[in-house]
Amino acid sequence: MDYSHNMIRKFRERGLKITPQRLAIFNLLDGNTGHPTAEEIYSGLKKDFPNLSFTTVYNILKSIKEAGGIQELLIERERAHYDPDVSLHHHIICTRCGKLRDIFYTNTSEMRLPDDILKEFSVTGHQIHFYGVCRACSENEEEEEGKTAVPREGANAN
Ligand SMILES: [Zn+2]
Ligand SMILES: [Zn+2]
Repeated sequence: MDYSHNMIRKFRERGLKITPQRLAIFNLLDGNTGHPTAEEIYSGLKKDFPNLSFTTVYNILKSIKEAGGIQELLIERERAHYDPDVSLHHHIICTRCGKLRDIFYTNTSEMRLPDDILKEFSVTGHQIHFYGVCRACSENEEEEEGKTAVPREGANAN
């Protein structure tokens, strides 16, 4: 509940009212390591708030982001994922099924950028996205290959 309490305080500081919808999103994000998309958050709340619109969910997420309560991960082109853990960490996503995992490896903050970049920018943060294929997907793929090999042999025999 620490996360929700923290967000209630941050919203009040910013003069934002704590509506039942806002509170529901705080609670949904509290301790959530699933990196949900706005769509997933929306469908998770639809049962309790039948009149809730997707735009409302999106705007609440935007306010939470502005209050420093979530990281917006643009690891996929089609959709953003939201992470209530705003500490420095990175992510890996399976390009087949979209499984997303945290990478808590922070030595990247020691990475030294080229001087011309440092002259032009004062760096305030960074995040690295890794792409790959998860074990379940690569095992499925091997199975699929096995399956297609059998009828091909059968066809040759005929
Ligand atoms: Zn996968
Ligand atoms: Zn994360």
